[in-house]
Amino acid sequence: MISKVLIANRGEIALRIIRACRELGIRSVAVYSDADARAPHVRAADEAVNIGPPPSSQSYLLGDAIIAAAKEYGADAIHPGYGFLSEREWFARAVRDAGLIWIGPPAEVIAAMGSKTAARTLAVEHGVPVVPGTTEALRDADAAREVARQYGYPVLLKAAAGGGGKGMRVVRNESELESSLDAARREAKNAFGDDAVYVEKYIEGPRHVEIQILADMHGNVLSLGERECSVQRRHQKMVEEAPSIAVSAELRKRMGETAVRAARAAGYVNAGTCEFLLDRDGEFYFLEMNTRLQVEHPVTELVTGIDLVQWQLRIASGEKLPFVQEGIVPRGWAIECRITSEDTANGFLPSTGHIDYLHLPSGPGVRWDGGIEVGSEVGLHYDPMLAKLIVWAPTRELAIERMHRALLELTIEGVETSRDFHLRLMEDEDFRSGAIEIQWLERKLPELIAVRPPADALRAAVIAAALFADRDRKRGVPSATSSQKKPDASTDRADGGWKHIARLEGLR
Ligand code: ADP
Repeated sequence: MISKVLIANRGEIALRIIRACRELGIRSVAVYSDADARAPHVRAADEAVNIGPPPSSQSYLLGDAIIAAAKEYGADAIHPGYGFLSEREWFARAVRDAGLIWIGPPAEVIAAMGSKTAARTLAVEHGVPVVPGTTEALRDADAAREVARQYGYPVLLKAAAGGGGKGMRVVRNESELESSLDAARREAKNAFGDDAVYVEKYIEGPRHVEIQILADMHGNVLSLGERECSVQRRHQKMVEEAPSIAVSAELRKRMGETAVRAARAAGYVNAGTCEFLLDRDGEFYFLEMNTRLQVEHPVTELVTGIDLVQWQLRIASGEKLPFVQEGIVPRGWAIECRITSEDTANGFLPSTGHIDYLHLPSGPGVRWDGGIEVGSEVGLHYDPMLAKLIVWAPTRELAIERMHRALLELTIEGVETSRDFHLRLMEDEDFRSGAIEIQWLERKLPELIAVRPPADALRAAVIAAALFADRDRKRGVPSATSSQKKPDASTDRADGGWKHIARLEGLR
Protein backbone atom coordinates (compact mmCIF):
# COMPACT_ATOMS: atom_id res chain seq x y z
CA MET A 1 0.00 0.00 0.00
CA ILE A 2 2.85 2.41 0.81
CA SER A 3 4.91 3.11 -2.30
CA LYS A 4 6.99 6.15 -1.34
CA VAL A 5 8.12 7.32 2.09
CA LEU A 6 9.49 10.71 3.06
CA ILE A 7 11.96 10.42 5.92
CA ALA A 8 11.74 13.45 8.21
CA ASN A 9 15.16 12.95 9.74
CA ARG A 10 18.90 12.83 9.07
CA GLY A 11 22.05 10.89 9.90
CA GLU A 12 22.17 7.23 10.74
CA ILE A 13 18.45 6.79 11.33
CA ALA A 14 17.53 8.30 7.95
CA LEU A 15 19.90 5.79 6.32
CA ARG A 16 18.48 2.95 8.39
CA ILE A 17 14.95 3.76 7.20
CA ILE A 18 16.02 4.23 3.57
CA ARG A 19 17.60 0.75 3.68
CA ALA A 20 14.40 -0.78 5.05
CA CYS A 21 12.38 0.95 2.32
CA ARG A 22 14.68 -0.31 -0.41
CA GLU A 23 14.46 -3.89 0.83
CA LEU A 24 10.68 -3.65 0.74
CA GLY A 25 10.61 -2.09 -2.73
CA ILE A 26 9.42 1.26 -1.35
CA ARG A 27 10.84 4.49 -2.78
CA SER A 28 12.33 7.03 -0.40
CA VAL A 29 12.52 10.82 -0.22
CA ALA A 30 15.14 12.41 2.02
CA VAL A 31 14.95 15.90 3.46
CA TYR A 32 18.06 17.87 4.29
CA SER A 33 19.21 21.19 5.66
CA ASP A 34 21.91 23.29 4.00
CA ALA A 35 24.42 21.77 6.43
CA ASP A 36 23.55 18.28 5.19
CA ALA A 37 23.56 18.94 1.42
CA ARG A 38 26.33 16.36 0.96
CA ALA A 39 25.27 13.98 3.72
CA PRO A 40 25.12 10.24 2.97
CA HIS A 41 21.36 10.01 3.60
CA VAL A 42 20.74 12.53 0.83
CA ARG A 43 22.51 10.37 -1.76
CA ALA A 44 21.11 7.12 -0.45
CA ALA A 45 17.47 8.14 -0.94
CA ASP A 46 15.79 7.96 -4.33
CA GLU A 47 14.99 11.67 -4.13
CA ALA A 48 15.94 14.50 -1.78
CA VAL A 49 14.52 17.88 -0.85
CA ASN A 50 16.27 20.84 0.74
CA ILE A 51 14.14 22.17 3.58
CA GLY A 52 16.15 25.09 4.90
CA PRO A 53 19.13 26.43 6.80
CA PRO A 54 21.17 24.39 9.31
CA PRO A 55 19.36 25.11 12.61
CA SER A 56 16.79 22.36 13.11
CA SER A 57 14.17 24.96 14.08
CA GLN A 58 14.46 26.21 10.49
CA SER A 59 14.68 22.81 8.80
CA TYR A 60 14.12 19.39 10.42
CA LEU A 61 11.48 20.77 12.78
CA LEU A 62 9.47 22.56 10.09
CA GLY A 63 6.56 20.15 10.01
CA ASP A 64 4.49 22.06 7.50
CA ALA A 65 7.35 22.42 5.02
CA ILE A 66 8.08 18.71 5.37
CA ILE A 67 4.48 17.76 4.71
CA ALA A 68 4.42 20.08 1.69
CA ALA A 69 7.57 18.39 0.39
CA ALA A 70 5.99 14.96 0.86
CA LYS A 71 2.99 16.02 -1.20
CA GLU A 72 5.10 17.65 -3.87
CA TYR A 73 7.25 14.57 -4.28
CA GLY A 74 4.31 12.18 -4.28
CA ALA A 75 5.19 10.39 -1.02
CA ASP A 76 2.27 8.60 0.57
CA ALA A 77 3.77 8.24 4.04
CA ILE A 78 6.14 9.99 6.47
CA HIS A 79 8.58 8.23 8.79
CA PRO A 80 9.81 10.55 11.55
CA GLY A 81 12.69 8.41 12.88
CA TYR A 82 13.52 9.40 16.47
CA GLY A 83 14.01 12.88 17.94
CA PHE A 84 12.96 15.91 15.88
CA LEU A 85 9.22 15.60 15.09
CA SER A 86 8.78 11.96 16.08
CA GLU A 87 6.84 12.60 19.28
CA ARG A 88 5.00 15.76 18.32
CA GLU A 89 1.33 15.03 18.41
CA TRP A 90 0.47 18.00 16.20
CA PHE A 91 2.79 16.74 13.49
CA ALA A 92 1.33 13.22 13.50
CA ARG A 93 -2.10 14.80 13.26
CA ALA A 94 -1.09 17.19 10.46
CA VAL A 95 0.39 14.31 8.48
CA ARG A 96 -2.86 12.40 8.79
CA ASP A 97 -4.94 15.49 7.97
CA ALA A 98 -2.86 15.96 4.82
CA GLY A 99 -4.01 12.51 3.70
CA LEU A 100 -0.64 10.90 4.33
CA ILE A 101 0.22 7.78 6.34
CA TRP A 102 2.03 8.41 9.63
CA ILE A 103 4.54 5.67 10.39
CA GLY A 104 4.01 5.58 14.11
CA PRO A 105 1.20 5.40 16.65
CA PRO A 106 -1.93 7.55 16.31
CA ALA A 107 -1.60 11.21 17.33
CA GLU A 108 -3.94 10.57 20.29
CA VAL A 109 -1.56 7.95 21.68
CA ILE A 110 1.42 10.27 21.30
CA ALA A 111 -0.55 12.90 23.22
CA ALA A 112 -1.56 10.48 25.96
CA MET A 113 1.99 9.21 26.41
CA GLY A 114 3.70 12.55 25.76
CA SER A 115 2.95 13.77 29.23
CA LYS A 116 4.65 11.69 31.91
CA THR A 117 1.92 12.51 34.40
CA ALA A 118 -0.85 11.47 31.99
CA ALA A 119 1.04 8.27 31.16
CA ARG A 120 1.45 7.51 34.88
CA THR A 121 -2.26 8.04 35.43
CA LEU A 122 -3.12 5.69 32.58
CA ALA A 123 -0.66 3.11 33.90
CA VAL A 124 -2.10 3.25 37.42
CA GLU A 125 -5.63 2.84 36.06
CA HIS A 126 -4.59 -0.33 34.28
CA GLY A 127 -2.69 -1.96 37.09
CA VAL A 128 0.77 -1.18 35.72
CA PRO A 129 3.17 -0.52 38.62
CA VAL A 130 4.71 2.98 38.52
CA VAL A 131 7.54 4.54 40.53
CA PRO A 132 5.93 5.89 43.73
CA GLY A 133 5.17 9.58 43.35
CA THR A 134 2.54 12.02 42.17
CA THR A 135 0.52 11.95 38.99
CA GLU A 136 -0.12 15.66 39.11
CA ALA A 137 2.15 18.64 38.56
CA LEU A 138 3.31 20.46 41.70
CA ARG A 139 1.59 23.71 42.50
CA ASP A 140 4.44 25.28 44.44
CA ALA A 141 7.36 24.64 46.77
CA ASP A 142 5.04 23.96 49.72
CA ALA A 143 3.25 21.23 47.82
CA ALA A 144 6.63 19.83 46.78
CA ARG A 145 7.77 19.76 50.42
CA GLU A 146 4.66 17.92 51.45
CA VAL A 147 4.91 15.14 48.86
CA ALA A 148 8.68 14.83 49.29
CA ARG A 149 8.14 14.25 53.04
CA GLN A 150 5.48 11.70 52.24
CA TYR A 151 7.76 9.66 49.95
CA GLY A 152 10.99 10.34 51.80
CA TYR A 153 14.26 11.73 50.42
CA PRO A 154 15.87 11.41 47.97
CA VAL A 155 13.20 12.38 45.47
CA LEU A 156 13.39 13.16 41.79
CA LEU A 157 11.72 16.22 40.29
CA LYS A 158 10.68 15.52 36.74
CA ALA A 159 9.26 17.61 33.93
CA ALA A 160 5.84 16.28 32.90
CA ALA A 161 6.71 17.02 29.28
CA GLY A 162 10.25 15.70 29.81
CA GLY A 163 12.57 13.87 27.50
CA GLY A 164 16.30 13.49 27.06
CA GLY A 165 16.85 13.79 30.81
CA LYS A 166 15.92 17.47 30.74
CA GLY A 167 14.05 19.11 33.60
CA MET A 168 15.13 16.38 36.03
CA ARG A 169 16.67 17.08 39.44
CA VAL A 170 17.60 14.71 42.25
CA VAL A 171 16.82 16.26 45.61
CA ARG A 172 18.59 14.69 48.59
CA ASN A 173 17.14 16.85 51.36
CA GLU A 174 14.60 19.52 52.05
CA SER A 175 17.07 22.40 51.97
CA GLU A 176 17.72 21.75 48.26
CA LEU A 177 14.09 21.40 47.34
CA GLU A 178 13.04 24.92 46.48
CA SER A 179 16.06 25.82 44.37
CA SER A 180 15.91 22.45 42.56
CA LEU A 181 12.25 22.98 41.82
CA ASP A 182 12.98 26.39 40.33
CA ALA A 183 15.82 24.96 38.25
CA ALA A 184 13.76 22.01 37.00
CA ARG A 185 10.91 24.33 36.08
CA ARG A 186 13.16 26.73 34.23
CA GLU A 187 14.83 23.92 32.31
CA ALA A 188 11.46 22.36 31.46
CA LYS A 189 10.06 25.67 30.29
CA ASN A 190 13.08 26.26 28.06
CA ALA A 191 13.16 22.78 26.60
CA PHE A 192 9.45 22.01 26.27
CA GLY A 193 7.62 25.30 26.70
CA ASP A 194 5.86 23.74 29.70
CA ASP A 195 7.08 24.12 33.28
CA ALA A 196 4.92 21.42 34.88
CA VAL A 197 7.07 19.36 37.24
CA TYR A 198 6.07 16.40 39.44
CA VAL A 199 7.75 14.20 42.06
CA GLU A 200 8.95 10.60 41.95
CA LYS A 201 10.73 8.67 44.63
CA TYR A 202 14.38 8.51 43.57
CA ILE A 203 15.28 4.86 43.39
CA GLU A 204 18.86 3.96 44.29
CA GLY A 205 20.70 1.44 42.20
CA PRO A 206 18.01 0.22 39.79
CA ARG A 207 18.55 -0.95 36.24
CA HIS A 208 16.87 0.65 33.28
CA VAL A 209 15.19 -2.21 31.47
CA GLU A 210 12.78 -1.50 28.63
CA ILE A 211 10.41 -3.66 26.63
CA GLN A 212 10.04 -3.33 22.87
CA ILE A 213 6.53 -3.82 21.64
CA LEU A 214 4.97 -4.14 18.19
CA ALA A 215 1.25 -3.63 17.65
CA ASP A 216 -0.69 -3.97 14.42
CA MET A 217 -4.04 -2.44 13.42
CA HIS A 218 -5.83 -5.71 14.03
CA GLY A 219 -5.48 -5.86 17.78
CA ASN A 220 -2.28 -7.91 17.97
CA VAL A 221 0.21 -6.55 20.48
CA LEU A 222 3.48 -8.40 21.03
CA SER A 223 6.44 -7.99 23.34
CA LEU A 224 9.82 -8.42 21.66
CA GLY A 225 11.63 -8.73 24.96
CA GLU A 226 13.85 -6.43 26.93
CA ARG A 227 16.83 -4.16 26.44
CA GLU A 228 19.24 -3.36 29.25
CA CYS A 229 20.06 0.36 29.12
CA SER A 230 21.63 0.96 32.52
CA VAL A 231 24.93 2.33 31.25
CA GLN A 232 23.95 5.99 31.34
CA ARG A 233 25.59 9.35 31.77
CA ARG A 234 23.36 12.21 32.90
CA HIS A 235 20.29 10.03 32.39
CA GLN A 236 21.36 9.39 28.77
CA LYS A 237 22.02 5.89 27.47
CA MET A 238 25.48 5.10 26.17
CA VAL A 239 25.52 1.32 25.78
CA GLU A 240 22.56 -1.00 25.37
CA GLU A 241 22.22 -4.76 25.39
CA ALA A 242 19.63 -7.39 24.65
CA PRO A 243 18.73 -9.42 26.55
CA SER A 244 19.45 -8.22 30.13
CA ILE A 245 21.60 -10.25 32.47
CA ALA A 246 19.13 -9.38 35.25
CA VAL A 247 16.03 -10.69 33.50
CA SER A 248 14.98 -14.33 33.75
CA ALA A 249 12.55 -15.93 31.31
CA GLU A 250 9.87 -15.62 33.98
CA LEU A 251 10.55 -11.91 34.59
CA ARG A 252 10.71 -11.30 30.84
CA LYS A 253 7.26 -12.78 30.52
CA ARG A 254 5.86 -10.65 33.35
CA MET A 255 7.45 -7.43 32.12
CA GLY A 256 6.35 -8.21 28.57
CA GLU A 257 2.77 -8.78 29.67
CA THR A 258 2.81 -5.54 31.62
CA ALA A 259 4.14 -3.59 28.63
CA VAL A 260 1.52 -5.14 26.37
CA ARG A 261 -1.17 -4.20 28.89
CA ALA A 262 0.05 -0.58 28.93
CA ALA A 263 0.16 -0.51 25.13
CA ARG A 264 -3.35 -1.91 24.84
CA ALA A 265 -4.62 0.58 27.39
CA ALA A 266 -3.23 3.39 25.24
CA GLY A 267 -4.65 1.98 21.98
CA TYR A 268 -1.12 1.55 20.70
CA VAL A 269 -0.30 0.78 17.07
CA ASN A 270 3.19 0.37 15.51
CA ALA A 271 6.54 0.06 17.33
CA GLY A 272 6.90 1.44 20.84
CA THR A 273 8.87 1.01 24.03
CA CYS A 274 7.85 0.77 27.65
CA GLU A 275 10.63 1.91 29.93
CA PHE A 276 10.91 0.42 33.41
CA LEU A 277 13.18 0.70 36.40
CA LEU A 278 14.07 -2.72 37.78
CA ASP A 279 15.15 -2.57 41.41
CA ARG A 280 17.53 -4.82 43.29
CA ASP A 281 14.68 -6.98 44.53
CA GLY A 282 13.43 -7.69 41.02
CA GLU A 283 10.47 -5.30 41.32
CA PHE A 284 9.83 -3.22 38.22
CA TYR A 285 8.18 0.16 37.80
CA PHE A 286 6.83 1.81 34.66
CA LEU A 287 8.70 5.02 33.76
CA GLU A 288 7.26 6.06 30.43
CA MET A 289 6.35 4.89 26.97
CA ASN A 290 8.31 6.08 23.97
CA THR A 291 5.97 6.34 21.02
CA ARG A 292 8.56 5.93 18.29
CA LEU A 293 11.49 3.87 17.10
CA GLN A 294 14.32 3.92 19.66
CA VAL A 295 18.00 4.57 18.97
CA GLU A 296 18.78 1.19 20.49
CA HIS A 297 16.30 -0.84 18.39
CA PRO A 298 19.07 -2.82 16.60
CA VAL A 299 19.94 -4.95 19.65
CA THR A 300 16.37 -6.23 19.69
CA GLU A 301 16.52 -6.88 15.95
CA LEU A 302 19.67 -8.94 16.35
CA VAL A 303 18.37 -11.21 19.09
CA THR A 304 14.84 -11.65 17.71
CA GLY A 305 15.57 -11.65 13.97
CA ILE A 306 12.67 -9.22 13.51
CA ASP A 307 13.37 -6.12 11.41
CA LEU A 308 11.62 -3.40 13.40
CA VAL A 309 11.77 -0.70 10.75
CA GLN A 310 10.36 -2.99 8.08
CA TRP A 311 7.58 -3.96 10.44
CA GLN A 312 6.85 -0.31 11.15
CA LEU A 313 6.30 0.14 7.42
CA ARG A 314 4.28 -3.06 7.09
CA ILE A 315 2.06 -2.26 10.06
CA ALA A 316 1.42 1.22 8.68
CA SER A 317 0.38 -0.46 5.41
CA GLY A 318 -2.18 -2.50 7.33
CA GLU A 319 -0.36 -5.84 7.51
CA LYS A 320 -1.04 -8.28 10.31
CA LEU A 321 1.79 -9.39 12.59
CA PRO A 322 2.49 -13.03 11.74
CA PHE A 323 4.33 -13.86 15.00
CA VAL A 324 3.06 -15.60 18.11
CA GLN A 325 4.23 -14.41 21.50
CA GLU A 326 5.61 -17.80 22.57
CA GLY A 327 7.79 -17.88 19.45
CA ILE A 328 9.62 -14.67 20.34
CA VAL A 329 12.59 -15.81 22.39
CA PRO A 330 15.91 -13.93 22.43
CA ARG A 331 18.72 -15.82 20.74
CA GLY A 332 22.30 -14.98 21.70
CA TRP A 333 23.43 -11.54 22.86
CA ALA A 334 23.64 -8.12 21.22
CA ILE A 335 25.42 -4.97 22.40
CA GLU A 336 25.31 -1.46 20.99
CA CYS A 337 27.78 1.38 21.60
CA ARG A 338 26.75 4.91 20.68
CA ILE A 339 29.69 6.46 18.90
CA THR A 340 29.49 10.18 19.52
CA SER A 341 31.64 13.16 18.54
CA GLU A 342 32.45 13.99 22.12
CA ASP A 343 35.72 14.54 23.89
CA THR A 344 35.13 12.10 26.72
CA ALA A 345 38.36 13.05 28.52
CA ASN A 346 37.22 16.65 28.51
CA GLY A 347 33.79 16.56 30.10
CA PHE A 348 32.22 15.00 26.99
CA LEU A 349 32.54 18.32 25.22
CA PRO A 350 31.08 18.15 21.70
CA SER A 351 33.88 17.97 19.14
CA THR A 352 33.57 19.46 15.69
CA GLY A 353 35.52 19.13 12.46
CA HIS A 354 35.78 17.09 9.27
CA ILE A 355 35.98 13.33 9.17
CA ASP A 356 39.24 12.90 7.32
CA TYR A 357 39.89 9.22 7.93
CA LEU A 358 37.40 6.47 8.58
CA HIS A 359 38.03 2.77 8.93
CA LEU A 360 34.92 0.75 9.72
CA PRO A 361 34.89 -2.53 11.60
CA SER A 362 33.50 -5.59 9.88
CA GLY A 363 33.68 -9.36 10.14
CA PRO A 364 31.36 -11.85 11.85
CA GLY A 365 28.51 -10.42 13.88
CA VAL A 366 29.31 -6.74 13.38
CA ARG A 367 26.77 -4.12 12.31
CA TRP A 368 27.50 -0.44 11.70
CA ASP A 369 24.54 1.93 11.60
CA GLY A 370 26.32 5.14 10.73
CA GLY A 371 25.62 8.50 9.24
CA ILE A 372 29.15 9.63 8.42
CA GLU A 373 31.78 9.15 5.74
CA VAL A 374 35.14 10.65 4.88
CA GLY A 375 34.51 14.34 4.23
CA SER A 376 31.49 14.60 6.52
CA GLU A 377 31.39 17.79 8.48
CA VAL A 378 30.53 17.41 12.15
CA GLY A 379 29.07 20.63 13.46
CA LEU A 380 27.13 21.75 16.48
CA HIS A 381 23.69 21.94 14.93
CA TYR A 382 22.69 18.37 15.59
CA ASP A 383 23.02 15.53 18.05
CA PRO A 384 26.63 14.36 18.50
CA MET A 385 25.77 10.71 17.81
CA LEU A 386 27.69 9.81 14.65
CA ALA A 387 26.88 6.14 14.49
CA LYS A 388 26.01 3.03 16.40
CA LEU A 389 28.28 0.03 16.51
CA ILE A 390 26.31 -3.12 17.21
CA VAL A 391 27.52 -6.69 17.61
CA TRP A 392 25.87 -10.05 18.02
CA ALA A 393 27.41 -13.22 19.49
CA PRO A 394 26.08 -16.42 21.07
CA THR A 395 26.80 -15.28 24.65
CA ARG A 396 27.28 -12.02 26.54
CA GLU A 397 30.94 -12.79 27.15
CA LEU A 398 31.58 -13.37 23.46
CA ALA A 399 29.57 -10.29 22.52
CA ILE A 400 31.79 -8.14 24.78
CA GLU A 401 34.92 -9.62 23.19
CA ARG A 402 33.46 -9.02 19.76
CA MET A 403 32.58 -5.42 20.57
CA HIS A 404 36.08 -4.90 21.90
CA ARG A 405 37.54 -6.34 18.71
CA ALA A 406 35.22 -4.23 16.53
CA LEU A 407 36.11 -1.07 18.44
CA LEU A 408 39.80 -1.82 17.92
CA GLU A 409 39.13 -1.98 14.19
CA LEU A 410 37.26 1.33 14.21
CA THR A 411 39.26 4.44 13.39
CA ILE A 412 37.69 7.87 13.07
CA GLU A 413 39.98 10.83 12.55
CA GLY A 414 39.13 14.51 12.38
CA VAL A 415 36.98 14.74 15.49
CA GLU A 416 37.25 13.37 18.99
CA THR A 417 34.94 10.41 19.53
CA SER A 418 33.73 8.15 22.31
CA ARG A 419 35.48 5.15 20.74
CA ASP A 420 38.29 4.83 23.29
CA PHE A 421 35.87 5.33 26.14
CA HIS A 422 33.84 2.37 24.89
CA LEU A 423 36.99 0.28 24.57
CA ARG A 424 37.75 0.85 28.25
CA LEU A 425 34.18 0.11 29.13
CA MET A 426 34.41 -3.27 27.40
CA GLU A 427 37.54 -4.00 29.46
CA ASP A 428 35.97 -2.97 32.73
CA GLU A 429 35.46 -5.78 35.24
CA ASP A 430 32.14 -4.45 36.57
CA PHE A 431 30.74 -4.11 33.08
CA ARG A 432 32.00 -7.54 32.11
CA SER A 433 30.39 -9.11 35.14
CA GLY A 434 27.12 -7.29 34.41
CA ALA A 435 27.20 -5.46 37.76
CA ILE A 436 25.73 -2.30 36.27
CA GLU A 437 22.89 -0.05 37.29
CA ILE A 438 21.85 3.44 36.24
CA GLN A 439 24.12 5.30 38.65
CA TRP A 440 27.12 3.04 38.05
CA LEU A 441 28.68 4.85 35.11
CA GLU A 442 28.71 8.22 36.87
CA ARG A 443 30.69 6.67 39.72
CA LYS A 444 33.00 4.87 37.35
CA LEU A 445 33.53 7.73 34.93
CA PRO A 446 36.70 9.26 36.42
CA GLU A 447 38.42 5.90 36.11
CA LEU A 448 37.16 5.25 32.59
CA ILE A 449 38.14 8.60 31.15
CA ALA A 450 41.58 8.67 32.72
CA VAL A 451 44.06 8.73 29.86
CA ARG A 452 45.13 5.15 29.81
CA PRO A 453 45.52 3.16 26.63
CA PRO A 454 43.63 -0.12 26.69
CA ALA A 455 45.81 -3.02 27.85
CA ASP A 456 45.73 -4.77 24.48
CA ALA A 457 46.64 -1.59 22.69
CA LEU A 458 49.68 -1.13 24.85
CA ARG A 459 50.82 -4.69 24.19
CA ALA A 460 50.17 -4.32 20.47
CA ALA A 461 52.03 -1.02 20.40
CA VAL A 462 55.09 -2.50 22.08
CA ILE A 463 55.10 -5.40 19.62
CA ALA A 464 54.61 -3.05 16.68
CA ALA A 465 57.43 -0.82 17.86
CA ALA A 466 59.74 -3.82 18.22
CA LEU A 467 58.82 -5.16 14.77
CA PHE A 468 59.42 -1.86 13.05
CA ALA A 469 62.67 -1.32 14.90
CA ASP A 470 63.81 -4.81 13.91
CA ARG A 471 62.88 -4.27 10.27
CA ASP A 472 64.64 -0.94 10.18
CA ARG A 473 67.72 -2.43 11.78
CA LYS A 474 67.81 -5.19 9.13
CA ARG A 475 67.48 -2.57 6.42
CA GLY A 476 70.22 -0.53 7.99
CA VAL A 477 67.97 2.41 8.74
CA PRO A 478 69.51 4.55 11.47
CA SER A 479 67.35 4.85 14.51
CA ALA A 480 66.23 8.25 15.74
CA THR A 481 68.48 8.00 18.77
CA SER A 482 71.60 6.68 17.01
CA SER A 483 71.75 9.45 14.41
CA GLN A 484 70.80 13.06 14.08
CA LYS A 485 70.59 12.60 10.30
CA LYS A 486 67.39 13.70 8.62
CA PRO A 487 65.28 10.55 8.31
CA ASP A 488 65.15 9.11 4.79
CA ALA A 489 62.06 7.81 3.02
CA SER A 490 62.20 4.39 4.63
CA THR A 491 62.24 5.85 8.13
CA ASP A 492 59.24 7.93 7.19
CA ARG A 493 57.44 4.82 6.04
CA ALA A 494 58.36 3.00 9.18
CA ASP A 495 57.08 5.87 11.24
CA GLY A 496 53.84 5.99 9.23
CA GLY A 497 53.31 2.27 9.66
CA TRP A 498 53.94 2.45 13.36
CA LYS A 499 51.50 5.31 13.73
CA HIS A 500 48.91 3.47 11.73
CA ILE A 501 49.15 0.38 13.89
CA ALA A 502 49.11 2.46 17.04
CA ARG A 503 45.99 4.16 15.72
CA LEU A 504 44.30 0.89 14.85
CA GLU A 505 45.09 -0.41 18.29
CA GLY A 506 43.62 2.55 20.08
CA LEU A 507 46.69 4.55 20.94
CA ARG A 508 45.75 7.78 19.25
P1 ADP B 1 13.58 11.21 29.95
O1 ADP B 1 12.25 11.05 29.26
O2 ADP B 1 13.94 12.63 30.20
O3 ADP B 1 14.66 10.41 29.32
P2 ADP B 1 13.02 9.15 31.92
O4 ADP B 1 11.81 9.17 32.78
O5 ADP B 1 12.99 8.21 30.76
O6 ADP B 1 13.34 10.64 31.43
O7 ADP B 1 14.29 8.86 32.81
C1 ADP B 1 15.58 8.90 32.28
C2 ADP B 1 16.53 8.17 33.19
O8 ADP B 1 16.57 8.78 34.48
C3 ADP B 1 16.15 6.73 33.45
O9 ADP B 1 16.64 5.86 32.47
C4 ADP B 1 16.79 6.50 34.80
O10 ADP B 1 18.17 6.27 34.61
C5 ADP B 1 16.66 7.81 35.50
N1 ADP B 1 15.44 7.85 36.35
C6 ADP B 1 14.20 8.19 35.96
N2 ADP B 1 13.33 8.11 36.98
C7 ADP B 1 14.02 7.70 38.05
C8 ADP B 1 13.69 7.45 39.44
N3 ADP B 1 12.46 7.60 39.90
N4 ADP B 1 14.68 7.04 40.26
C9 ADP B 1 15.95 6.91 39.81
N5 ADP B 1 16.32 7.15 38.54
C10 ADP B 1 15.38 7.54 37.66
